[in-house]
Amino acid sequence: MKKITVNELYVGYSSNENIRKNSSSGGVVTGVLTYMLTEKIIDGAIVSKIISKDNKVSAISELVSSTEELIEFAGSSYIDTPVLSTVKRLDAYDGKVAVVALPCQIRAIRKLLNNNKKINKKVVIIIGLFCRGNVTNRFYDDYFVKGKIDTGSISKIKIKRGYLDGKVIIKKTNENHEELSFKKMNFYRIAGIHAKTLCLWCHEHLANEADISVGDIFTPEYRKHEIKHSSIIPRSKIGVEILKSMSDKNATVIKYFGLANYIKYFRKIENFGSNLKNRYIAAKLTGLKNNRRIKQKCKSQSINVFHIISWSLFFLNYRISKTKYGRCFLYKMPSFFIKANAVFIKILSRF
Ligand SMILES: Cc1cc2nc3c(=O)[nH]c(=O)nc-3n(C[C@H](O)[C@H](O)[C@H](O)COP(=O)(O)OP(=O)(O)OC[C@H]3O[C@@H](n4cnc5c(N)ncnc54)[C@H](O)[C@@H]3O)c2cc1C
Ligand code: SF4
Repeated sequence: MKKITVNELYVGYSSNENIRKNSSSGGVVTGVLTYMLTEKIIDGAIVSKIISKDNKVSAISELVSSTEELIEFAGSSYIDTPVLSTVKRLDAYDGKVAVVALPCQIRAIRKLLNNNKKINKKVVIIIGLFCRGNVTNRFYDDYFVKGKIDTGSISKIKIKRGYLDGKVIIKKTNENHEELSFKKMNFYRIAGIHAKTLCLWCHEHLANEADISVGDIFTPEYRKHEIKHSSIIPRSKIGVEILKSMSDKNATVIKYFGLANYIKYFRKIENFGSNLKNRYIAAKLTGLKNNRRIKQKCKSQSINVFHIISWSLFFLNYRISKTKYGRCFLYKMPSFFIKANAVFIKILSRF
């Protein structure tokens, strides 16, 4: 790739098959981290994964310094991760690091870096993941109880996404593993069950404050592609330099796609996710605590009745899942009802 431009969108994948095998989409994130580590641009990277401790599912964010560990941490963890607190601990670390984080976490990390020059000097690059919603730990605790999975014997949970499919691989302490359908589990997430509260009002999904933002790419062409690709947006000088150097050394395959083209293709999802007025009205209708700042922000935005119904259903499921009996009720229901609910929410969001 001859020219890589800041704030343009590319698609690509890591040239390393083992990285791709363990990654969520094209293995671009793990590929960039591995490259920076082997080229000694960084000494370590803060990465995250889902684990199980004392019968409860949770997440860890750790500073790792080997390619084996980077591959171990590859994949998407749909859970709240403690990235910020791990970045705060860099005060005591002597070396250069890369950080992988979600858009909301990056905003908090940038604030921290602006106020802490010592840590700022150690963070060489921030890689942001596209994100349109996350869940709390309880999501897994409840889902695994429903699926009769023994949470006590879990050593790691790895999620491998496909376009309409994917797997949740539950690795056990005795080296065995079980697999669940990501699609079936994802219906609970789409329906708003155990959604993270911050996500209810989130409207920035492409990690604007990262040095490189990475997400999936599910256009018809890439859905059918034998090799899964990632979307990649370099957003700073270092982001461009790393991708260019990786491409020159064939460490990654990268092709131009175009940000305008991406936005055009995903405009319905973007319209649904960026309009706060519909959410504000839905929150009022479903008795969800509203935020005054949101009211100000969405004054000039347009109204879409389908989106209001879609958000109302999402908020209702969220509220029900927050109560003790509601939570039991949702998981006692045959999964077919949650699927129908999620499909309805999705269909309405596309109008
Ligand atoms: C909660 C969540 C929601 C997402 N939503 C979307 C979406 O709507 N659209 C879209 O296009 N893409 C979304 N993604 C991003 C997508 O799933 C892939 O992570 C992205 O395409 C990168 O793939 P990769 O193969 O290059 O990364 P990999 O090589 O698999 O590496 C992923 C890296 O991210 C780190 N990581 C994983 N989860 C977390 C986390 N929760 N917090 C911090 N670090 C983490 C891992 O430790 C690893 O280093 C989401 C990811 C998450 C975690
Ligand atoms: S949807 Fe927004 S608030 Fe929720 S995890 Fe993703 S970036 Fe953070």
